[in-house]
Amino acid sequence: MSTYTTATRTGFEMPALAYPAGALAPVISQATVECHYGKHLKTYIDNLNRLVTGTEYEDYTLREIVEQAPPGPLFNNAGQVLNHSLYFEQFTPTPPGNNRPTGNLKDFIHFDFGNFDNLKKKMEDAASALFGSGWVWLVQEENGKLSIINWHNGDTPMHRRMTPLYGIDVWEHAYYLDYQNRRAEHVKKLWEIVDWEVVESRLDI
Ligand code: MN
Repeated sequence: MSTYTTATRTGFEMPALAYPAGALAPVISQATVECHYGKHLKTYIDNLNRLVTGTEYEDYTLREIVEQAPPGPLFNNAGQVLNHSLYFEQFTPTPPGNNRPTGNLKDFIHFDFGNFDNLKKKMEDAASALFGSGWVWLVQEENGKLSIINWHNGDTPMHRRMTPLYGIDVWEHAYYLDYQNRRAEHVKKLWEIVDWEVVESRLDI
């Protein structure tokens, strides 16, 4: 979990992007990555650093802030930094053909959802059902079971002591330049670029 940005004397820093901004096109365009990563995430980081300074949370890790801060601007910005760090890490510009989960993750998905197509359908339905801005996550609950949740705004699985596995950002800034109002089409296209090795590495087995 190297991208769980940690506090330093210089504050929270941008997580590294492991691919060029244009490498996920056409599923996610260069313009969207530049705006989403370079502007939206940067703003969340800047806000987090401003809001945490001089508070009891100043030396906390990002995860500790998300778990312990009360509802409000500090929690919102910390949650969004955590969500986006996981988001940008989970895609690959070089997916294999017929990109799908393998190994332990495949076994977990088959146990809890029957098969991969059922998982995809449930996540797509959850994305369409979420009114307004938010996130859809494939998570692992404390008892080990996989489930799908959809939450508004900047809430995050770490806040509920769930392990985030794969997250879909359904704020319009994540897709509007490329898909306009077609959220469902965007969510379906994302399956092509999921890095299932990264997702599997998040699994607690
Ligand atoms: Mn976003």
